[in-house]
Amino acid sequence: MTTLKSFDPVDGTLVWEGEVADSEVVSAALLRARKAFAHWGSFPVETRTKAAERYRSALEARKDALAETIARETGKPLWETRTEVASMIGKVGISIAAQAERAGEKRTDMPFGQAVLRHRPHGVMAVLGPFNFPGHLPNGHIVPALLAGNTVVFKPSEMTPATGALMAECWAEALADHPHVFQCIQGGRETGEVLVAGAIDGLLFTGSAGAGAHFRRVFADRPDVILALELGGNNPLVAWDGDVDEAASVVVQSAFITTGQRCSCARRLIVPDNEFGSALVEAVAALADRIVIGAWNETPEPWIGPLISDAAAAAAKARFDGLVTRGAKVIRPFNGVEGRSAAFVTPAMLDVTGVFVPDEEIFAPVLQVSRVPDFDAAMEAANNTRFGLSAGLISADDALWERFLAECRAGVVNRNRPTTGAAGSMPFGGLGESGNHRPSAYYAADYCAYPVASFEATDASGNAGALNGKLRP
Ligand code: NAD
Repeated sequence: MTTLKSFDPVDGTLVWEGEVADSEVVSAALLRARKAFAHWGSFPVETRTKAAERYRSALEARKDALAETIARETGKPLWETRTEVASMIGKVGISIAAQAERAGEKRTDMPFGQAVLRHRPHGVMAVLGPFNFPGHLPNGHIVPALLAGNTVVFKPSEMTPATGALMAECWAEALADHPHVFQCIQGGRETGEVLVAGAIDGLLFTGSAGAGAHFRRVFADRPDVILALELGGNNPLVAWDGDVDEAASVVVQSAFITTGQRCSCARRLIVPDNEFGSALVEAVAALADRIVIGAWNETPEPWIGPLISDAAAAAAKARFDGLVTRGAKVIRPFNGVEGRSAAFVTPAMLDVTGVFVPDEEIFAPVLQVSRVPDFDAAMEAANNTRFGLSAGLISADDALWERFLAECRAGVVNRNRPTTGAAGSMPFGGLGESGNHRPSAYYAADYCAYPVASFEATDASGNAGALNGKLRP
């Protein structure tokens, strides 16, 4: 038996300990999920809606415990984990609406009868979750998948098993009469590999672009498996004009929230090479210096906590140092925080103007600043990435916004708001290496079911007439 453990990145305290699912356990779970699908998928949607509503009540009953568990496993402050749990609860109503609107039934009268559009579940869905929103993001796949009639085998991130276990407790309560419709297995990458190699009909994945590229290859010869990939980004934020302090606040919230551990965080700040650009960079650095960093349970509450682990901090520092070696100028260094675990880091900024920078996501509070001569160069720099998740423009100029919207290649494009701003009532996904054109959030209903189009007449009358005059006597 192999054991999985999760730790509080604030002080290394053990949070969870349990058994890793080996290949036998995974295969047994998939077999049970297949059997459960036979009935779950054929129930009317109302039955599944009621189960989702019971799940919502179970979440509400545990919302404090869940917020604290996410905080302990990720180090995110409680204000943020409470918001995450609220999003999980809100997701149920949003998914019920999306299921009806995007994956429901539609009938159109035809001369012979009706054209009917229906949606059918795929079968057994594997869900792999990331560590940064360990509740909200897998929840965003699981709720729509179950509502659509699929069964789910969920593997949480190996960094956040306790959060996954609590979600499983909520589903166990909601699905007490429907065993094995939802199952949670624990483990790391190896367990995930066994799961995706098994008899699944879909993989709903939120995680790194590297893993996403791996799955594209794994499933190249399995076109029957629906693949929804929600991946990382190297997101640009073009700050062009306006009030410097307001703009700096948008930048700081875009780049440093969640200690830079959001897929939608701005990684690249593109500014005009003029007075506004210089003033803004200075204001961002000054604001970043004032960010309250601390443990999730401290008073006053910090705005950000540590990175997920000491190892994540060391890896990000190596990337930062690599950019400095390439010639980037340090605006704010990548430092640890005195008296804290090595997972705590301060927001860092580099001027990378004229430096060749690899097109990679640094999943940490590292902002790369480029100064450009004009808006043409700003657009070129913004789109100079293989990713395309989020992007932002800070400008009061409507014409520039129209141009940014028209030319920017990203799935989330915000104006004068942080790049991380997104609503569950809208789709969320990216282009290029950020996904595979199957956005999640409101559009998750689309990949959780396939459409079936039917022409239907109550009897076969009228068909013979179509051949009248076109047959040999
Ligand atoms: P990760 O890719 O390391 O892991 C995600 C999950 O996949 C984990 O459960 C992990 O065990 C599993 N996994 C990883 N490689 C695997 C493999 N080869 N086979 C089977 N399973 C595998 O991602 P992470 O570090 O947990 O999360 C951070 C990443 O997720 C960042 O790149 C971030 O941008 C991205 N992300 C994207 C979105 C989005 O909606 N687009 C949202 C949040 C995070």
